[in-house]
Amino acid sequence: MRGAREHNLKDVDVDIPRDAFVVFTGISGSGKSSLAFGTLYAEAQRRYFESVAPYARRLIDQAGVPEVDAIEGLPPAVALQQHRGTPTTRSSVGSVTTISNSLRLLYSRAGTYPPNQPHLDSDAFSPNTPAGACPNCHGLGRVYDATEESMVPDPSLTIRERAIAAWPPAWHGQNLRDILVSLGYDVDTPWRELPQKDREWILFTEEQPTVPVYAGFTPAETRRALRRKEAPSYMGTFTSARKFVLQTFATTQSAMIKKRVSQYMVSGECRLCHGKRLRRESLSVTFAGLDIGELSRLPLKRVAEILRPTVNGTAPGMAKLSREHPEKALVAQRIAKDLLARIDVLAELGLGYLSLERSTPTLSPGELQRLRLATQVRSNLFGVVYVLDEPSAGLHPADTASLLKALDQLKGSGNSLFVVEHEVDVIRHADWIVDVGPAAGEHGGRILYSGPLEGLASVEASHTRRYLFEEKAAARHTPRSPKGWLRLEGVSRNNLHGLDVEFPLGVFTTVTGVSGSGKSSLVSQVLVELVSEQLGHELLPDEDEGEELERSVVLTTGGKIVSGMEGIKRLVRVDQRPIGRTPRSNLATYTGLFDHVRKLFAATKEARARRFDVGRFSFNVAKGRCETCEGEGFVSVELLFLPSVYAPCPTCHGARYNAKTLEIQYRGKNIAEVLGMTVDAAYAFFAEDTAVHRALGVLKEVGLGYLRLGQPATELSGGEAQRIKLATELQRVQRGHTLYVLDEPTTGLHPADVDRLMSQLNGLVEAGNTIILVEHDMRVIAASDWVIDMGPGAGEEGGKVVVAGTPAQVAATSKSRTAPYLSECLG
Ligand code: ADP
Ligand code: ADP
Ligand code: ZN
Ligand code: ZN
Repeated sequence: MRGAREHNLKDVDVDIPRDAFVVFTGISGSGKSSLAFGTLYAEAQRRYFESVAPYARRLIDQAGVPEVDAIEGLPPAVALQQHRGTPTTRSSVGSVTTISNSLRLLYSRAGTYPPNQPHLDSDAFSPNTPAGACPNCHGLGRVYDATEESMVPDPSLTIRERAIAAWPPAWHGQNLRDILVSLGYDVDTPWRELPQKDREWILFTEEQPTVPVYAGFTPAETRRALRRKEAPSYMGTFTSARKFVLQTFATTQSAMIKKRVSQYMVSGECRLCHGKRLRRESLSVTFAGLDIGELSRLPLKRVAEILRPTVNGTAPGMAKLSREHPEKALVAQRIAKDLLARIDVLAELGLGYLSLERSTPTLSPGELQRLRLATQVRSNLFGVVYVLDEPSAGLHPADTASLLKALDQLKGSGNSLFVVEHEVDVIRHADWIVDVGPAAGEHGGRILYSGPLEGLASVEASHTRRYLFEEKAAARHTPRSPKGWLRLEGVSRNNLHGLDVEFPLGVFTTVTGVSGSGKSSLVSQVLVELVSEQLGHELLPDEDEGEELERSVVLTTGGKIVSGMEGIKRLVRVDQRPIGRTPRSNLATYTGLFDHVRKLFAATKEARARRFDVGRFSFNVAKGRCETCEGEGFVSVELLFLPSVYAPCPTCHGARYNAKTLEIQYRGKNIAEVLGMTVDAAYAFFAEDTAVHRALGVLKEVGLGYLRLGQPATELSGGEAQRIKLATELQRVQRGHTLYVLDEPTTGLHPADVDRLMSQLNGLVEAGNTIILVEHDMRVIAASDWVIDMGPGAGEEGGKVVVAGTPAQVAATSKSRTAPYLSECLG
């Protein structure tokens, strides 16, 4: 590669071997991704697009061609990137891995059919086809309905007093009431005293009569008007409450309205298919005594055990089948063998606890990446370069070994691997290291080293070197003593069944365990839900309302807090969910920093002379923003069959503001230029403005100095979003008694940045708060005050507290899978 200049890359040249395991290292923001994804992968994509589709040129022009002079010898690339934000498409483990397809084939060809039932096509085993879908729930497995109880929460009210809470508010609701009056229904008697027949009709009828409406008339006046056939105010069409709720839920575009009507719905498992989503005939076909719905609910490891006897020919009935229908036996064996091989790869990657029916939005980004990786391992492609983004994220060191094995398999079949990583074990495994740095953003973007691992030892400028080669006996710190205990009893969720657990207060706790052991179920789900319920605040709704909706109908929290709440006044959950989903939210707006900046601009002499107020400097307000892109800086281009792409705005070229606004300068910079600064640059620029300076300082401290102030939320990784939330929290005045819950905050962080993060978190503990985090980084675990190790295994083999104690106590527990790694780190 010659002359790479993407993002912060400083016109770099580098030679990278093919058919090798190459790891890109460097602190966060140094330019690793810009090199691996932004340049190498982007260029490979561009060439691929050009070769297959002439129309794709347009896309490439919009998506941008990487800034690089030349790349030679570049193989086609496949990216296995941790997606930023949550996926919008609805898919399952079975569909992503395509294992479900093979399973359907197995049932179709080699299933046990009831006598006289003809053989079914494999389509008939998919809930997404008309041939397979259960006719009652249309393949959803659940039915949503509205009942009298759900739509009329208080039957002592009259219709006029809004007994039918499910009806729309305001004018539309009044309209429906007036129609009922015209139809002769009593709207002034308490609901429960109305005749059953009337209540049923009003709530459930499918009829939609259109009748004259006399707005503002009393029932008596309406009756008189009807008799005299007076001209009505208008003609109104009636819709029953249930019809209104279901129809609105199915058709509205607004998440808010959807959420509103969903309150009046109840959901239940479909009674016809029992949630298995298929028609009766499909479910009557079995394999090893199980229908395909049952098999799809089992952990993959169990599915493997069920398939193995068929592969070995030892399954009951196989001998008979071989004799009578040898061709059938052969087919069964072949499909089962292929399935088993694919499941084995998943199991080796530590995903054996997943079931095929598990929906991908409930998986962590790391799990999803490994799922895709496993699919690739079996794809038999060769001569490809796989580009991966921190594949160790979310992995316990015990799982990392199997990840490396899978990567080696890919390399062994003749592929190249480009991996962006921080995890020392993965770096040590590399054939070749490309170290980028020395620092982040403007201070990075150079290749410090490119060669086999050992050579890095002599590169003075490298931060990575320190963590790889210097003996760093983790300073044995004395754990703090808890100030109290938060006790939970009977916790049930996913693989937790009636678990009792206690969290120390006023200290720093890490929750550990192999992936799938139940850490997130315990901490990010149950603990967070129970504490917020006790504090009486509703959980902040998910950005993704639809998702939230579905989960809230299905999940109930098992368990309760029995003591310790007196020590907690506030709950702050610092997670990896995006801080926004459009380029309208960015670092500066989310942290509140931008409010200060706008005030500074509005206070300049020029701004006051022109009467430009604070709003003028917001790209969300019409006055000051560019009207072509309405302040987005980008225009979104909708594409058929492809996700829409953002292209720079032709008028403001990304500046977001109109020319008049941009004429105002604060200390020689206009507002767009300020948004274009990195946190580091802005920290120097705003040195004299205390509020802005302080906020920027905190962002630097959590390792985000390299981000630009206006960096859109859509460009941020989960780890960056989490650190932004943390920084926002750190700026607040500390009153103590706050419980902070974090989920693997070290994701995407170089060890050097982890150290800074730790000192921030310790500062919060010193200020009288409690920290609980789910973590895999042994240095972080070793430095915590208390460790709760979940396990022992994943899925149903986990879900218990293996040991809880100080890091030293946990390190000495033989049955803990964390212990060996922890004791090595403790030295
Ligand atoms: P790393 O992968 O080492 O953490 P990146 O390659 O993501 O670093 O970032 C290197 C620099 O490029 C940072 O200063 C970052 O803010 C900047 N950068 C990253 N993505 C973009 C982008 N889409 N547009 C502009 N600058 C970017
Ligand atoms: P960890 O955080 O330790 O990786 P999790 O708490 O995410 O583990 O998962 C524990 C178990 O619960 C696993 O068997 C996992 O497959 C299961 N699980 C987690 N979330 C869900 C969900 N939304 N639906 C079904 N099963 C789930
Ligand atoms: Zn059904
Ligand atoms: Zn514009």
